[in-house]
Amino acid sequence: MTVPHKDMRTAIANAEVGDDVLDGDPTTKRLEDRVARLLGHEAGLYFPSGTQANQVAIGLLAGPGSEIVVEDQSHIVHYEQAGAATLWGVQVRTVSTADGVLTADRIGSVIRNGGTLLPQTAAIVIENTHSYHGGRVTNLEVLREVRDLADQRGIALHIDGARLWNAAVALGQPLDALGRLGTTVMVSFTKGLGCPVGALLAGPQALIERGVRMRQRLGGAMRQSGVLTAACLYALDHNLGRLGEDHDRARMFAEVLADRKEVTPVVPDTNIVMLDLHTRTASAAAHLLEQAGVKLSVYGPRRLRAVMHLGVVEDQVRHAAETIARVLREGEM
Ligand SMILES: *Cc1c(COP(=O)(O)O)cnc(C)c1O
Repeated sequence: MTVPHKDMRTAIANAEVGDDVLDGDPTTKRLEDRVARLLGHEAGLYFPSGTQANQVAIGLLAGPGSEIVVEDQSHIVHYEQAGAATLWGVQVRTVSTADGVLTADRIGSVIRNGGTLLPQTAAIVIENTHSYHGGRVTNLEVLREVRDLADQRGIALHIDGARLWNAAVALGQPLDALGRLGTTVMVSFTKGLGCPVGALLAGPQALIERGVRMRQRLGGAMRQSGVLTAACLYALDHNLGRLGEDHDRARMFAEVLADRKEVTPVVPDTNIVMLDLHTRTASAAAHLLEQAGVKLSVYGPRRLRAVMHLGVVEDQVRHAAETIARVLREGEM
C-alpha cells in the first residue's frame, strides 16, 4: 500500500549508477555492503523481490531430493508458486504451529539425516516476523535454540526476514543479533520500509558469490540498479527508525477494538493486527468496510487483517478502528 515519498523519488533521481551486470553499480554496492553489515554477515546481494531472494537461498542451501522444514503458513508455502519444488527439486516439509513460531522442539522431531531410506533435511526456514500469523515475532532465545539445533544436525538455517526490521524493533535488539543466527537471511525493502522494489540476501561471501550466478539464471540481474537501491538507502536513513510508530499504532488500533462482541483483535507483536469476526463473514465485513472507507484484507472465513504503515498517520488509524467498530455493530455506513 505504500508509495515512494517525494524525497525518496529525489534520491532515485540523483542516484549514482553503473552497470551491475558488468562491473558493478556503486549505489547497489553501497546498499549490499551496508545491509550485510547491519545483518552481521560478510556479503549481501540485491534482488528484484523477496520471493526471488528466498528461492536463491533455497537453491544455495538445499539440493535436488533434499527437503527444507518450514512453517505451514509461511510465504514460501503460500506465495512462491512451489518454487522450491519446480526450480530446485526440493521437498517442502511443513510444520504447523498455532502462533507461527517454529521452536527447536517443534522442528527437532521432523529433521531427518541418516540412512538411505529417508530424504535428508538440508535447511530450516524461520519466517520472522511471521506474516500470516499477524506479524508474530520469533525471539532471540528461540532463534538461538534453532541455530544450535541446525548446527548439531549439520543443516543450514535461512531466515525469511522480509520483516526482520520489525522483529528487531519489537525485541529491542540490533538487527545483527537476529540476522547473524541465519546461515542466510533475506530482508525486504518493500514492506514497512516503503520502497518500490527490492530485497536483499545476506550470507557468507562464498555462498553469495554462488548466489550471483543463481540470480543471473533466474533473470534477476539488473543493469543500473542504483535507481532502485538509492530508494533503499533512503529508506534505511529515513524509514527504518520510525517502524516503532507502526507498532504503537497497531497496539492502539487493537485496543480500540478490544472487548466487543462482534470482533476480537489478536494482540499484535508488531505492525499487523488480525481481527477475528464473530457476527459476520470476513468477505461481507470487508465489503461493508470498504464502502465506509476502510480497506482490510480477508485472511480467512472470519479473519481480517490490518497493516500499519508509513502511509497512514495516527488519526487515520484511530478513525479506521472506530469505523470498524461502528460498521460491525450497525452493519451500515
Ligand atoms: C513479502 C514477503 C516475501 C516476498 O517478498 P516480495 O518482494 O513480495 O517477493 C517473502 N516473505 C515474506 C514473509 C513476505 O512478507
